[in-house]
Amino acid sequence: MVEESGRRKRPNILVTGTPGTGKTTTCTALAEATQLRHINVGDLVRDKNLHDGWDDELDCFVLNEDLVCDELEDQMEEGGNIVDYHGCDFFPERWFDCVVVLQTDNTVLYDRLSRRGYNESKLSNNIECEIFQVLLEEAKESYPEDRVIAMKSDTIEDINRNVSTLTDWVRNWQPTS
Ligand code: ADP
Ligand code: MN
Repeated sequence: MVEESGRRKRPNILVTGTPGTGKTTTCTALAEATQLRHINVGDLVRDKNLHDGWDDELDCFVLNEDLVCDELEDQMEEGGNIVDYHGCDFFPERWFDCVVVLQTDNTVLYDRLSRRGYNESKLSNNIECEIFQVLLEEAKESYPEDRVIAMKSDTIEDINRNVSTLTDWVRNWQPTS
């Protein structure tokens, strides 16, 4: 596998996982600890209109993959980003030095998502997504396996431990060329 981190001086990390697994909470804390830039793709899509309209069935924007990738290319090339999104197969493989997949126990996730006010069909879609480890499979299919890491995110202690593990990883990261 060809290393393609190019000339970035700081790594790019993708944090993915089913909605509610704690991506945004984790990324916010990690950005604070490392001074990397947190990019919440969902917010970006909404704020910059990088979508093809609203999907009534899935109750979310239909993200336009080309618009999103064009928008992020320069920053990603520069390095030092933490990208937060519940999908990963459409980002260029060369963008990321580490792909983190957060995972949460089903019953814990169910409570979090009902607290968020998700309707019954959105709830069961997401719980199913978590049961079948859809995001972990997607990450493993889209990135070299040694760059993909699954992390448990059931409790605040899990978040603290994950953030500290990743902060150490960022501090020790070195450009390859
Ligand atoms: P995501 O960005 O993956 O959708 P969030 O970070 O927004 O998830 O978290 C959703 C909700 O669940 C928030 O209220 C957050 O405080 C809570 N939460 C997320 N991860 C954990 C965790 N590991 N332990 C306790 N609460 C969590
Ligand atoms: Mn989020």
